[in-house]
Amino acid sequence: MIKKKYIDLFRVESENKVHLKNYDTGWAQTEEFKDFGKEKLKERAQTVLEQNIADLAQVQQLLYADDRYSLLIVFQAMDAAGKDGTIKHVMSGVNPQGCQVFSFKKPSTEDLDHNFLWRYMKSLPERGRIGIFNRSYYEDVLVVKVHPELLQNLPDGKRGKTFWENRYEDINAFEHHLKRNGTVILKFFLNVSKQEQKQRFMERLEHPEKNWKFSGSDLAEREHWDDYMKVYEDAINATSTKWAPWYIIPADNKWITRALVADIITSTLRNLDLEFPKLNEEQLKILAEARKKLEAE
Ligand code: ATP
Ligand code: MG
Repeated sequence: MIKKKYIDLFRVESENKVHLKNYDTGWAQTEEFKDFGKEKLKERAQTVLEQNIADLAQVQQLLYADDRYSLLIVFQAMDAAGKDGTIKHVMSGVNPQGCQVFSFKKPSTEDLDHNFLWRYMKSLPERGRIGIFNRSYYEDVLVVKVHPELLQNLPDGKRGKTFWENRYEDINAFEHHLKRNGTVILKFFLNVSKQEQKQRFMERLEHPEKNWKFSGSDLAEREHWDDYMKVYEDAINATSTKWAPWYIIPADNKWITRALVADIITSTLRNLDLEFPKLNEEQLKILAEARKKLEAE
């Protein structure tokens, strides 16, 4: 487990306003970890990840048996920040029956014929399960805010500051509703630097087995980098709440990203009052009788 005081560095408190440029995308070099050294930190991150993968498998079983809470994990990031790899590694030990991943791409015409939260509502995790959103309703205040022409089929009206503030308010209310009904929400922004994104795009171009991961539109969005940082910052500031906090996770080193995400997920579940269902007298009696019967065979 990573010490709570370190984890707290990455959680955005609702009363604080964040400036993304103050967040180190590399992390290993920061004041707090100077004494570790990079190699040592990498080794430690790997141990933490492995331990957490094992712990997560156990606590997930308990979540499932307890059947009162669900966990919704939201991943948002620029392209090539490592959403897919993080999901793959962190969830690798988890029972697939208790976990579902949804990747949200451009909305369909049917989606656009509904309110903007509709398609996400249909994919929320049931009690006892973990639901992962690879992109989410936050796209509707991110990519859509950068490209307002994506707003379709809406009644006429201004698309200024109030329009977006109303969307943040809707999101906060939606998440509050989920929280009050037993859904625990974790939101991760994988914070990759522009240089590291370039590096990863280059790798995708240079290695034939990675070519398929590259899409022309990735470069087009990269050109809007500063706009994206601004809309991410606004969205994180407007929607970091007690009931659904954002975590800004350094994403230039994959091993750091994965260890942190795994640790936050595992410790969040561990802090819930999960318990295996207790049997009542009647049920215990049935078990005792069943055992007797089997023993007598
Ligand atoms: P990868 O590139 O790793 O496969 P990805 O999540 O980037 O994963 P893509 O198919 O490349 O998947 O991109 C999905 C695109 O859909 C993104 O550009 C995203 O901004 C866009 N998108 C997602 N939700 C919405 C939305 N509500 N409105 C408009 N565009 C959206
Ligand atoms: Mg993409």
